[in-house]
Amino acid sequence: METLEKAGLAVNYNKIPGTKSKSLPKQVHIWDETLRDGEQTPGVALTIDEKIEIAKKLDEVGTAIVAVGFPAVSEEEKKAVAAIAKEGLSKASVAAPARAVISDVKSCIDAGVAEVPIFIATSDFRLKYQLRMTRQEMLERLTECIEYGKEHGLIIDYIAEDATRSEMEFLCQAYRTAIEAGADKICIADTVGFVRPEVMKHITREVKARLWTKAKYKVPIAVHCHDDFGLATANTLAAVEEGVTYPQVCVNAYGERAGNAAFEEIVMALEELYGIDTGIETEKIYSLSKLVERHFVVPLPLHKAISGDNAFTHSSGIHSHGQLTHSMTYEPISPSIVGRRREFHLGKFVGRHFVEYLLKMGGVKATSAQAREITERVKKTHEELKKTQSKVAFDKIKGDLKDLRTGVSEREFWAIVFDIV
Ligand code: MN
Repeated sequence: METLEKAGLAVNYNKIPGTKSKSLPKQVHIWDETLRDGEQTPGVALTIDEKIEIAKKLDEVGTAIVAVGFPAVSEEEKKAVAAIAKEGLSKASVAAPARAVISDVKSCIDAGVAEVPIFIATSDFRLKYQLRMTRQEMLERLTECIEYGKEHGLIIDYIAEDATRSEMEFLCQAYRTAIEAGADKICIADTVGFVRPEVMKHITREVKARLWTKAKYKVPIAVHCHDDFGLATANTLAAVEEGVTYPQVCVNAYGERAGNAAFEEIVMALEELYGIDTGIETEKIYSLSKLVERHFVVPLPLHKAISGDNAFTHSSGIHSHGQLTHSMTYEPISPSIVGRRREFHLGKFVGRHFVEYLLKMGGVKATSAQAREITERVKKTHEELKKTQSKVAFDKIKGDLKDLRTGVSEREFWAIVFDIV
């Protein structure tokens, strides 16, 4: 890309002054939630060993904060969190969340983590229906839990759950209250993936305008986005454009419902399209993605950005031939940047130039008539494949995928109920 740009043969609008927000930070710190929100992917349950392996890999690649689990969930989960905290990570901060409940914070202290993100919602309807408390009661609870955590020497963050559906003045009052109680960072959570990128920018700007004017409230801001409308990555980047420095991500976009902003997408977009340092060794991203996919037992879509099997695979003759003329023709980045290799898929879209290239690479001498015949044969072989055969295989695989989900189905739940009641 660099040489094409320097030679004046390609324009990179991403680098043109005026296309970047003035609030864009120079560096961000990746806050990974794979082992917490990610594990809340329906059907996923990790063993302690798997959690440790993933946490270590996240640390190795340069993640700043690794949320390793939710101690209040169960004794087993608390053990897993404690095991990782005891083992310790070399650079990353080991974090575990707590509801704004003293017993949750205690569980985190028992587990030995260094950082505790405390979450409680700020939207009025959640306060009314879910939490059944007044705004004042919520603020008091928040203060009590943060002060308790700080007294125990923890790094404390305040996650405003449902921040994007909360009244702005109260949201900021909650942030101020948290900071006064000792919170080190605050987080804007788009808990149900509800806003547009432009709205995320508006909210971030408003929060900054109301808090950062006073030095004592100027703490780093994190963001937590969900993919219910497929906007988790866009919304996270929008927040970073307005000065957020702690994007929360999950490897492979795993997480509750439609998942969270993908680790690999956020890191690569920030590094390549914005020119921001994420602290991540991008060459290790693919191996991280594969490790997490295997332990989660949730196969990635083939076309998943950055990490899907097809992400750097060329199929059509035009594209394959284009790739041979210059690697940037049909690729935005070199696959090696994320630790991958370029692949070619042969089928009905294959072209003669590409076949000739493969023959040359394989040291096979063929006349152009033979090359044409080979090309035709490849096309035909693909086109004549029995479609019904692949449909049968597809149905079988979809059925097998259901078996991969662990947990208790509704039917099994009622079986347990009738066994006991
Ligand atoms: Mn979430």
